[in-house]
Amino acid sequence: MTDGPTSETPPEPTQEVDLVIVGSGGGGMVAALTAADAGLSAIVLEKRDLIGGSTAMSGGVVWVPANQFLEADGIADSQEAALKHFEAVVGDVGPCSSTERRKAFLASGPEMVQFLQRLGVSLERCDGYSDYYSDMPGGLAVGRSLEPEPWDGRRLGDLFPKLQPGLAAGVGLAVKTNEVRTLAHWNRSPRAFATATRVILRTFGAKATRRKLLTNGAALIGQMLEIARARNVPVWTECPVTDLVVDGGRVVGVRATRNGQEITVKARKGVLLSAGGFSHNPEMRARYAPDRRRQPKWSIANPGDTGDALQAAMALGAQTDLMDEAWWLPTPRGGKFGQSTLVDARFRPGAIFVDAEGHRFVNEANSYMEIGRAMYERDRTARAVPCWLVFDDGYRRRYSHGLSRPGKFPEGLLDSGILKRAGTIAELAAECGIDPAGLEAEVARFNEGAERGIDPDHGRGASAYNRAMGDPGHKPNPSLGPVQRAPFYAVEVVPSDIGTCGGLLTDADARVIGPGQHPIPGLYAAGNITATVMGRHYLGAGASIANTMVFGYRAVRHAAATTTESATETATAEPEQPEPQ
Ligand SMILES: Cc1cc2nc3c(=O)[nH]c(=O)nc-3n(C[C@H](O)[C@H](O)[C@H](O)COP(=O)(O)OP(=O)(O)OC[C@H]3O[C@@H](n4cnc5c(N)ncnc54)[C@H](O)[C@@H]3O)c2cc1C
Repeated sequence: MTDGPTSETPPEPTQEVDLVIVGSGGGGMVAALTAADAGLSAIVLEKRDLIGGSTAMSGGVVWVPANQFLEADGIADSQEAALKHFEAVVGDVGPCSSTERRKAFLASGPEMVQFLQRLGVSLERCDGYSDYYSDMPGGLAVGRSLEPEPWDGRRLGDLFPKLQPGLAAGVGLAVKTNEVRTLAHWNRSPRAFATATRVILRTFGAKATRRKLLTNGAALIGQMLEIARARNVPVWTECPVTDLVVDGGRVVGVRATRNGQEITVKARKGVLLSAGGFSHNPEMRARYAPDRRRQPKWSIANPGDTGDALQAAMALGAQTDLMDEAWWLPTPRGGKFGQSTLVDARFRPGAIFVDAEGHRFVNEANSYMEIGRAMYERDRTARAVPCWLVFDDGYRRRYSHGLSRPGKFPEGLLDSGILKRAGTIAELAAECGIDPAGLEAEVARFNEGAERGIDPDHGRGASAYNRAMGDPGHKPNPSLGPVQRAPFYAVEVVPSDIGTCGGLLTDADARVIGPGQHPIPGLYAAGNITATVMGRHYLGAGASIANTMVFGYRAVRHAAATTTESATETATAEPEQPEPQ
């Protein structure tokens, strides 16, 4: 349980508000503020003891085409260009990314940003964080991403311990997400050095003044939480929603558990499901993607991602799509140890991904979602789940690994067995169970192009995104360099995910589509519980948080404008027997 005007009140068996919001991530918190601003009473029900979901754990980056920061900086962008980009990259993936939904997303993005700014949420542009498909029609090389400004968590007072710790908490630095890509090569260009110095000064400055300086997703959720409290929107933690209440075909509330007691919270205007996906539900993942092994074990989404709210909506006949898809993130094995050390190696010269035959199979420096999908695709013909990250001693010497000085691996990394080392490519291959002749031939071929800064096989280093993520001090291509200096190293890479991205089909106003393709009256959904407007692609940093925040915003705007009487669409939401899991 946490703050809010009713937080001191013992739970009543039945409560009533205008809007019930299930889940306290990005979509849920934007919805809470939108409801309060529209004069609606709202409540956020969160099943975990922490507030913020995956959004708080995340980079907190939000992808908003044609945003006001771009305009202020004189950078040309438009909703039309972004729509073209959707068409070129996402293509036709069905109703989850219909033209209507894309247009709604694009129209409401800048509007939502303006709304949040009006309420006091401070954001900034992630300059240079290129769109992930920057070279496709409508792509923007300087990027369309925004992130929160560093924010002092002390403003939350006694609510602070309730906030899910963010990305930067793990590394102990007050680092913005747009700065993270620079830290491992801080020694490689004056600009990178200046960025790293700024991060250090900010971190120590905050410590010296005893500020709890938050960045990334925690700063985003923290700011919204502070405003929600000021606007008297209760956020109840440890309050899992277990079912939806239906009356006459309309969703009129939820059942939940609070302090061990069953409660009903009625909703006069609607229920918004912003409860995340089902990354950590092994039964659902096996059912919807039976060929993809061990996904829940590798997921780094928040533990609340178990799909229970999604199943409650499906039991009412809600339609779904993209249930096999996720926001993939190739992750070095070895938990935090391996991840923090080598997670971005694929962007830098001197490192490649190979399958068990020793072959490259993808442009390693492309969007993480693209790599995850390529790993599974390749795995049909050659083992690529897991695949191997292979790099040379030149890579080791050039870059920082974790918080160490360049060239130095964290204590124990080699001894742990996570990282393999050998004097030759063939020996390394043998140690990893990769075909030695295959790897030798592949490395020789790759090196030939890499020395000239080209990758004829996969085009690595050609796009602005590849180059933005690479080493600015490496010529002729910041993304490409040969793997040639002994000894050689390898680490296994698994397709983790940061959330599933298939789920409920929703319309342009985030209404859940039910039987007969009609919206289920009173039921809205946003974020990873839905089939995303991004389809099977990740258009730029912040694509998934934008998806949850924008549709959370639109859901409430729609609910606020709708009288209960007029919300009598023809769909009937009647409980069905859930399909066996
Ligand atoms: C390390 C990391 C970094 C990332 N970086 C980025 C980034 O920079 N940009 C980006 O776009 N994406 C990023 N992502 C992905 C992004 O965080 C998620 O896709 C997105 O935040 C999902 O938002 P959501 O609102 O759908 O769910 P969440 O933010 O996960 O919120 C859902 C909430 O609902 C709660 N809940 C679930 N079931 C119930 C129930 N039955 N009753 C009550 N509450 C319930 C959950 O506990 C959770 O708190 C990152 C993810 C991770 C893990």
